[in-house]
Amino acid sequence: MRYTGGCHCGAVAFEVEGELSEAIECNCSICARKAYLHWIVPPQTFRLLSGEQALATYTFNTGVARHYFCARCGVAPYYVPRSNPDKIDVNVRCLDGIDLAGLRIRRFDGRNWEQAIREGGVLSGSDR
Ligand SMILES: [Zn+2]
Repeated sequence: MRYTGGCHCGAVAFEVEGELSEAIECNCSICARKAYLHWIVPPQTFRLLSGEQALATYTFNTGVARHYFCARCGVAPYYVPRSNPDKIDVNVRCLDGIDLAGLRIRRFDGRNWEQAIREGGVLSGSDR
């Protein structure tokens, strides 16, 4: 299945290929504030159609994650995650025509990042 998405003003647009059945909700300091819903995909399934020059990058802490956002409208439609720096993390909220109610949401305890990764990343038994 092919999905399209992007930021609010339209500067940043992308398409991504794959089967989206669940998204990850993280409680870390930045994801909680941004209400990010994560879908981590291999880079070869992701294609940025426009907006590379519109993207600003925010980094903090380890500096591994590259938190892109549109410098014009502020929306963060995708980024490079610390957990998978060789992949693309798509913000499911920025995909066109997504019914969030039909998605399984899994929770990641990003506030305790090191421990959460050691225990396999996505917490079991905390599905919503
Ligand atoms: Zn924008």
